[in-house]
Amino acid sequence: MTTQSFVAPALQFERVDAAYGVYRALFGVSFAVAPGTVKALLGSNGAGKSTLSRVATGLVPTTAGTVSIGGVDVTGREAFQIARMGAAHVPEGRGIFSDLSVEENLTLLFRQRAGRKCVGECLMRAYDAFPILKDRRKQRAGQLSGGQQRLLSLANVLVVPPALLIADELSLGLAPIVVDAVYDGLREIHRSGCALVVVEQQIDRVLDIATEALVLEHGAVVYDGPVAGALRAVEEVLAARGESRQLSPVASRPQNGNAPVADRPEPKDRPNEGRSS
Ligand code: ATP
Repeated sequence: MTTQSFVAPALQFERVDAAYGVYRALFGVSFAVAPGTVKALLGSNGAGKSTLSRVATGLVPTTAGTVSIGGVDVTGREAFQIARMGAAHVPEGRGIFSDLSVEENLTLLFRQRAGRKCVGECLMRAYDAFPILKDRRKQRAGQLSGGQQRLLSLANVLVVPPALLIADELSLGLAPIVVDAVYDGLREIHRSGCALVVVEQQIDRVLDIATEALVLEHGAVVYDGPVAGALRAVEEVLAARGESRQLSPVASRPQNGNAPVADRPEPKDRPNEGRSS
């Protein structure tokens, strides 16, 4: 007789509904993300991608169904409890102190997550991955551009990887060269064994890193399977919406992990984000 070992999914939704007040945003969503795999989360504007991400990390409650992380039912748990179980959501601004410098932020995070003795080594790894953070290490985090703040959040999970990372529209509004740095970071996080759910508008970017894809439309799953079928599923969704257009095939891009990181200038009057936790 052979025994098969069961490995619990890093994330599993079973018939999950979610709502904002009377407005229902998710309808019976079921899927699983196996440990160490990368699931692309695709869909049109308003399809429910961000809602699904927030439900997964406890930021939005379910109204029906079950959410499990690593085989543990976390339905109804608070976001901080889910974070302690090894699930991270980037970007969500939490854990960044706008009045502290970049280095003070990283030092605090690494001291909490890796221990005081490891802080120096963790800082080195963070600066190696994102040299722009080294250049800005004395600058207050609140003065960083949105993209640089995203790199700061990502540096934290990159150096001390969670078991599950929900990466929600990381490339939004970033210059292509910064997006390259972000995706190099995601690849490194994935190499550490972390399961990823990547929400992304730039389909070719995410399908380049993903092993599977989930396509949402009107808050329901319309495709869950290998990336090879995802483009067709998205095209069908667009055609049904009367927005038929040819999507680009999965693009291969040059590996330029050491390229300098630039960022689009942020408006000077961008509100200074306080600590949100
Ligand atoms: P986008 O790519 O535009 O961010 P999305 O796929 O991430 O879209 P969601 O942001 O999850 O979609 O939105 C799903 C639905 O829920 C949309 O119809 C949206 O208007 C609605 N919604 C999202 N956030 C809220 C909120 N805080 N209050 C009320 N309705 C919301």
